Amino acid sequence: MDVSKLIRENVKALLPYSSARDEFSSVADVYLDANENPFENGVNRYPDPYQNKVKSKLSQLKGVSEKNILLGNGSDEVLDLIYRAFCEPLQDNIITSPPTYGMYKVLAGINNVENRIAPLNKDFSLDFEGIKSKVDAQTKLIFVCSPNNPSGNSLDDAIIEKMLNELNCIVVIDEAYIDFTNKKSWATRLNEFPNLIVCQTLSKAWGLAGIRLGICFASEYIIGILNKIKPPYNINQLTQNKALEVLEDEIQFSNNLKVILFEKKNLEASMIELPLVIKIIPSDSNFFLAQFENPKLVFDTLMNQGIVVRDRSKELHCEGCLRITVGSPEENKKLIEALRKI
Ligand SMILES: *Cc1c(COP(=O)(O)O)cnc(C)c1O
Repeated sequence: MDVSKLIRENVKALLPYSSARDEFSSVADVYLDANENPFENGVNRYPDPYQNKVKSKLSQLKGVSEKNILLGNGSDEVLDLIYRAFCEPLQDNIITSPPTYGMYKVLAGINNVENRIAPLNKDFSLDFEGIKSKVDAQTKLIFVCSPNNPSGNSLDDAIIEKMLNELNCIVVIDEAYIDFTNKKSWATRLNEFPNLIVCQTLSKAWGLAGIRLGICFASEYIIGILNKIKPPYNINQLTQNKALEVLEDEIQFSNNLKVILFEKKNLEASMIELPLVIKIIPSDSNFFLAQFENPKLVFDTLMNQGIVVRDRSKELHCEGCLRITVGSPEENKKLIEALRKI
């Protein structure tokens, strides 16, 4: 398939803004090119517009070439760049499969692009035929969230592969929670699928929601297009510094991960014992849906004790469900105690 046909004409024709730091990077030691303040305070210089150090570390961790990586100010920015590269407002459409991450729909609204809905099946699996039936010549993007938020389950790789092969669209696979699973990332298969984009983030398993760093993996061609439209200095220096520091500490990362997964098992086991819990949806993530007879009562009671969970009971296929994030051992204990009292 020819991905260039899916890109907006104006974007294809764009010449990117060329920043001072684009033109001369390494060798100089006197920088009088960017109207910066010369007095050193750690952040007086513009940051590296291509974040080469962070990408090099990510490339090593993820086994994906730096040329296939773009970083964004959170996945939010990555997703927005994808819309702006592919979707002509008031003309093109995208497909989402609710219940899923709310940002796809919000960004469709912001970019004035039609959001076509092909719901997940009741068991939260992908409905290939449902998706296929919504695709037309103006369909540019199909969003697949795996593991899915809010249901927590991973989606079937065989169906995703069928979508990549048979539907003439970009398939955006949001792997925000992939680090909690032992699944192989789709980012390792970029060479097979020119229409594949994979999003990850440092916001969840890496514990860096506050620095806003989203990761996009795609073909060199797509990364080149997204680089043309991203703000030149979209990842600030403090974020780059902190990301490098934390990405270096793989031992801390895997220790934290082990604790969260261990706590998830305990939390699920304690909750399923409680008479007011109807069921727990099996999850590959650091959260899960728990179904209650009276979710509103549970939500309000927890809230009164200063414990906030997410009410997803109005979402498709999520009747009675609250979404619960696995917290620290102390937080989880508080939650269980509060639930026991209801
Ligand atoms: C939390 C989450 C993200 C992360 O977004 P950031 O902007 O990187 O913090 C992305 N996708 C899904 C499905 C999420 O749940």
